[in-house]
Amino acid sequence: MNSDEDKFSAQDARRKRINLYKKIIIYTVVTMILLPTVLCIVLFCRVSRMSDEISELKSMIAAMEKASDTADNVTEPVREEQTDKESEAETDGTMYVRPVESRPAEQETTSGEGSMERILVQNAVAEGRKVVYLTIDDGPSANTDRLLDVLKKYDVKVTFFVISNPKYEAAYSRIVSEGHTLAMHTFSHDYETVYGSLDNFIDEVEKLRTYLKDVTGVTPYIFRFPGGSSNSMTKLPITTFIKYLDKSDTVYYDWNVSSGDGGSIQLTSEQIYNNVISGIEKNQVSVVLLHDSEYKETTLEAIPAIIEKLQEMNALILPITSGTEPVHHNI
Ligand code: ZN
Repeated sequence: MNSDEDKFSAQDARRKRINLYKKIIIYTVVTMILLPTVLCIVLFCRVSRMSDEISELKSMIAAMEKASDTADNVTEPVREEQTDKESEAETDGTMYVRPVESRPAEQETTSGEGSMERILVQNAVAEGRKVVYLTIDDGPSANTDRLLDVLKKYDVKVTFFVISNPKYEAAYSRIVSEGHTLAMHTFSHDYETVYGSLDNFIDEVEKLRTYLKDVTGVTPYIFRFPGGSSNSMTKLPITTFIKYLDKSDTVYYDWNVSSGDGGSIQLTSEQIYNNVISGIEKNQVSVVLLHDSEYKETTLEAIPAIIEKLQEMNALILPITSGTEPVHHNI
């Protein structure tokens, strides 16, 4: 009896061992088949992604070469209607996009930032997308932090044409650290002081430039005239001041779309929204004028809706850089 039991248990153990070996063999075979297959699929995916990246890089290099080849060629100036005003001081005129070759040599950049921006803009225009530069004048103010929060929420970079306002000094560094362009709009923005004489003007620009460099560590070279370059507040010809800007490697920008929020009568956020969107619809490339002031609550209210509409339109929203084509009023 005992020997029978021993025999059965020995057979049972043998069967179990055989089953275990079978399982090991099956798992090994399955693993040997599956593993290379999975590896092949993963590698195939990676290779095709890499070849996509290579062709993207190739086309980018080709576009960069083309851009540098054409940089010295004449670009026809583009004229568009400019109908809006920044303030009472500014006159109507036609908008003029300054040809590339007439910009100061120092600003004619082949740097990565400028070239990349041009490629982005060229590609967007070729795809029929709108290109929009949102520009915000006269800050910083009590509203700047809220404005920066909104821009951060939508991950949108803009250009701030600032004046000196030590009360909100922290805003300058926040503008820089969050990727926006910090640009100059004169130290005081007082028309009589700014446009009183060339010496006054130089003082207004250089005092602000030094102040911003001291506060942020960044030296700005992008500028906007208070009231725009077509303003009627200056007794001296505006070209007197433009010559100084050219000499100091500073590029000035006007606008070709106004939100209308610069006047003494406060517009509703709907009016500001409508002015901006209808202006952008008329242009391929828009430089939009908005204001940052504690009295311009409706501008702040309008900005989220403006950005949402632009994102819905698949517009390319960019900050002004040294590679941006200057937009000038006809003077
Ligand atoms: Zn202004």
